Amino acid sequence: MSTTLEPLNTLITQTSGLIRQAKCVVALTGAGVSTPSGIPDFRSQGSGLWTKYLPMEVASLSTFRTNPELFYTWLHPLASHMLLAKPNAAHHALADLEHEGFLQTIITQNIDALHRRGGARHVLEIHGTLNTLTCVGCFRQYASDGIIEDYIDNMTIPRCRVCNAILKPDVILYEEQLPMRIWLQAEEACKTCDLMLVAGTSLEVMPSARLPVDALEHGAKLVIINHTPTYVDVRADVILRGDVAQILPQLTSEVLRGTIRQ
Ligand code: ZN
Repeated sequence: MSTTLEPLNTLITQTSGLIRQAKCVVALTGAGVSTPSGIPDFRSQGSGLWTKYLPMEVASLSTFRTNPELFYTWLHPLASHMLLAKPNAAHHALADLEHEGFLQTIITQNIDALHRRGGARHVLEIHGTLNTLTCVGCFRQYASDGIIEDYIDNMTIPRCRVCNAILKPDVILYEEQLPMRIWLQAEEACKTCDLMLVAGTSLEVMPSARLPVDALEHGAKLVIINHTPTYVDVRADVILRGDVAQILPQLTSEVLRGTIRQ
């Protein structure tokens, strides 16, 4: 394992070498990739989203079913941040790696769709996305464009145009199962990659927190880019301690340096 005692540039060069040698690279990203875009981590105490409600109570399936008004009141500041947010340098850096063939899959715990808006193509949103909503009555799916804006501006709870039932954002709430098809794709990607980049997540939320272990157990190397330690640091090949929005662009530049464009 390479430690943070080595200069960051050395560790970035080392990671770049691992990426260039790898045949299949998977990135697992979390809230830390979106915080530079101004999106608070709703699980963190300082985000302001804990002041009135506990997320695991209000952002739960049972609250949505019994008191959707309360759910939508709680969601309002988070949805407002997400609507205004733009992809940051970390999103663009990963998209560039993907475009140049050095990254095959991005698995994200984020629901803000910023990887896609940043240009990434193969993104597995294992906690769902705010980009779409589904009617709880007739299961029609709607793009959130226009609907989310109306909700943010007027606090209008989104309703189905056909059956008038309430629309539920396609995000995975507490008490809900992860989307099975996407989850299985994520597991498969982890088991078949030979390098995993963990970026901007402290790996505290199960079951996604165990994906790096799946990768390790199938022989992959592991690189962790995060502000704070994670439980798999002891098994990582390289740990890059710091801001993903600074480190990932440096890393991408290093990987693409010397790449001859066709
Ligand atoms: Zn409907």
